[in-house]
Amino acid sequence: MKAIQAARGTRDLLPPETELWNHIEATARRVFARYCFGEIRTPIFEDTQLFARSVGEETDIVSKEMYTWEDRARAQSEKAQSLTLRPENTAGVVRAYIEHKLGESGLLQKLYYIGPQFRRERPQKGRYRQFYQIGAEVIGPTSAGSESPLRDAEVLEMLATLLGELGIVDWKLYLNSVGSASDRPRYVLALQEALKEIAPKLCADCQRRAQTNPLRVLDCKIPEDQPFIETLPKIAEFLDANSRVHFAQVCAALDACGVPFILNPRLVRGLDYYTRTTFEFVHAGLGAQNALLGGGRYDGLSEAIGGPKAPGIGFAMGADRLVLTLQAQQEAPSAMPRLADAYIAPLGEAQQEQALVLARELRQAGLRVELGDGNFRIKKSFEVGNRLARRIVLFGEEEAQSGIMTVKDFASGAQTKVPRAELAQALQRK
Ligand code: AMP
Repeated sequence: MKAIQAARGTRDLLPPETELWNHIEATARRVFARYCFGEIRTPIFEDTQLFARSVGEETDIVSKEMYTWEDRARAQSEKAQSLTLRPENTAGVVRAYIEHKLGESGLLQKLYYIGPQFRRERPQKGRYRQFYQIGAEVIGPTSAGSESPLRDAEVLEMLATLLGELGIVDWKLYLNSVGSASDRPRYVLALQEALKEIAPKLCADCQRRAQTNPLRVLDCKIPEDQPFIETLPKIAEFLDANSRVHFAQVCAALDACGVPFILNPRLVRGLDYYTRTTFEFVHAGLGAQNALLGGGRYDGLSEAIGGPKAPGIGFAMGADRLVLTLQAQQEAPSAMPRLADAYIAPLGEAQQEQALVLARELRQAGLRVELGDGNFRIKKSFEVGNRLARRIVLFGEEEAQSGIMTVKDFASGAQTKVPRAELAQALQRK
C-alpha cells in the first residue's frame, strides 16, 4: 500500500530544527515583552466574510488562495456558514478587538501572535501552503494616539531590534506611504488612466488587475512587465498634506533612532486594508521569496469590518523564512546539546525498575537522561549509549547492592565509581 504523505505545501518540522523554531519564538516573545505587547490567540478559522471585507475581494489571497468551505448546519434553525482557514492574522486580531470592545479602555492595544496561516499558493522554497507568522498589532482609538507616526517608527525600530537579536544581519527595510483613504481614489484614477495605454503590453494577471484592482499591478514580479510599470505615476505625488507630513515624521523618527530604510514608491503590498505607511524587510539570502516580513498601517480596517474607528499598524514575519535565513547564515544557535548527560544501562531485567527510579532522580536534579533496556546485552548497551549520551551509568546487580555506580565517559574512556547519592552532582560536572 502506498504510504500517505503530508499534503502538498505542508511539511513536518522535526527535531533538532524545531529547537531553532523555539529559539526564534522565544526571542520574539522576549523582545515583544520589552515593548509591552501581550499575546493574543485567535481561532484558526473565521467567517469567510472577515477576509473578504478586510484583505479585499480582488486580492490574490481572497480571490484564489483561501481554503474555504461551507460548514454544515447542525440544526434546521442554523444557517450553513462559509468558513475559511485564516490566510493572515491581522483581520482576526481586529475582529477580536471589536468583539471584546478593547477600544473602550481608551488605551492603545499592543498585541502579538504566533501561529500557522494557510494560503493555496504554488509551493516553493520559502513558500508553503501552511506557513507560520509572528506578528504584532498596535491599535486603538485616535484619542489614544493610534495614528501617531511615532507608533509606526516604534514598530519599525522594534523589528530592527528583533532581527538584530535573532542574529539576522544584512536586511533592508523598504518603506512607502500609500496615502489615506481619500488620497487613494485620486491615485487609482490616475493609475487607471495610465494603464489604458500600457495594460495590453502587460502579463495576463496585470491586464485583469488593471480592470479590477489597478494598485495590484504595482505588485507584479514578472520581469518583462517591469519597464512599463516603472513609467506609471507614483503614489507619493498624490498624497495630501496630512499624509505627507505623517510620512515625513515616520522617516525623521527612524533617522533619529538610526534605523536605515530605503524609500520604495511601488511598495503597495498585497492586501487592501493598508493606508499610509507600508513596509517590508527583505533579505538577499532568501532568493525569490526574499520578504522576511511585511506590514503597514490600516486606519480604516476596523470600520470596514463593522467596528469603531480604530487606526492601527502591524506586521507579520514569516517564521519559515527566519528559519531559512538563520540556517543559511549558519549562525543558528547551537540547539539543545544533541547528547544526553547520561545513559543509564540496567544490566538485567531485575534492575529495570530501579534504573527507572534512578533516572527519575537524576532528571529531577535537572540532568538529561536516557534510559536503556535491561534486556540488552552489555555490548548493545554501550553501542546505544554511545549514540545517545556523553556517559553511561552501569546499573547491574553489584551496583544495586553496593549503591556504588559505575560511570564511563565515552569521550575520555575514563571509568569511575560514584556513590549513588553523589551521582547527580558528579554528572553535573563538566
Ligand atoms: P503577508 O501576510 O502577505 O503580508 O506576508 C507577511 C510575511 O509572511 C511575508 O513577508 C513572508 O515572510 C510570510 N509569508 C507570506 N506568505 C507565505 C507563504 N506562503 N509561505 C511562507 N511564508 C509566507
